Amino acid sequence: MDNFFGDEIEKIVFISEEQLKSRNTNKLYGKYFKDTKIFNIFPEELKERGEFLCEILPKGSNPTNDNLCAIETEESIEFYSEGKKIKIESYSLYQNIFSRNKGILETDVMSKKRAVILGCGSVGSLVAMELARSGVGNFLLVDPDVMEYHNICRHQCGIEDVGDLKINALTRKLKNINPKINIEKFEGVVENVPKTMLDEFCKPGDTVFVGCADNRAADVYANQISIYYSAYFISVGFWERACAGEIFYHIPNKGMPCYECALGSGSNLSSRVQANHHVYSNKEDIEAVKFEPGISVDINFITTIGIKLIIDMLNSNNKNYIPRLLNHLRQYTIVCNTNNPEIGGEMLEIFSYPLQVTTSLVVGFGKKQCKEKNKCKYELEEK
Ligand SMILES: [Zn+2]
Repeated sequence: MDNFFGDEIEKIVFISEEQLKSRNTNKLYGKYFKDTKIFNIFPEELKERGEFLCEILPKGSNPTNDNLCAIETEESIEFYSEGKKIKIESYSLYQNIFSRNKGILETDVMSKKRAVILGCGSVGSLVAMELARSGVGNFLLVDPDVMEYHNICRHQCGIEDVGDLKINALTRKLKNINPKINIEKFEGVVENVPKTMLDEFCKPGDTVFVGCADNRAADVYANQISIYYSAYFISVGFWERACAGEIFYHIPNKGMPCYECALGSGSNLSSRVQANHHVYSNKEDIEAVKFEPGISVDINFITTIGIKLIIDMLNSNNKNYIPRLLNHLRQYTIVCNTNNPEIGGEMLEIFSYPLQVTTSLVVGFGKKQCKEKNKCKYELEEK
């Protein structure tokens, strides 16, 4: 392809500085894009996702006539295409990926942050992808399910991932954003994650537990363990067809009620929560649930508000960071996608306008023993 002036566009190689200096590899993988004449050499961690491009030939070799030929030099690698030397554009993997976050999020701070994603469906996959884009460097993905065709219209993964575990599919997507990311995986539900695994993963002040399994019992349990690890907690759940959703967060050691204190557990769920019981599924009556989860854009609008809160919480000890929502949104927030009762039933009449985000709902210490002491019983437990 030629440019406007009729000059031929030169071929060019994109490769990381790390790989240019590395001496451990001799085969390069990635993609060649004919229209742009760009060879994108994938980082080592992603090589199995690329096509084989060429082998690195030893110092002093003669260039071949192949579309891409690489020859080792004293300190670097030279590239040739059809026998002609071509340009290299090298980049620092980490700095370039996160360069557009500069001045907003500190890459070094974010790379230490850790997210436990409890449920890797539509909500969990979006949360994980956005946190990876914001620079979070460590994930523990928890989910027992296999990616299926009916998941695609609401999930970050697609057809090429169908048939694999959601935790594996999501891992590929996250590594495609940041190959250096550290990912631990557990195939199962939150209640079965081994304590040793959590002991190793959780670092106080840097960890958030994200409850996105649409299961209140799991949220109650997850908040209890987040307190044990002095970690942040958030859950994102939905009303029928995602016409509205609920976000609940908990910051440890601030005297806040936990999910169980605030909203109850099992048959003790508060009345508002009880009313949505048929929607926000509950283990005890899973058979009775006719859950219509709603369309992606509605789920994602509410989830995004939760993600903003997560980023605020993870930076709440960072003096250079200005929180977006944390000082404004209460612990329990309801967000509506529509206030039209024809879509979501009369529950929606509490909203005055579509896209309303509540800022005045207050939750307290509902459990008797917590009410007396005005402190969550889990926070009073010895660690
Ligand atoms: Zn509590």
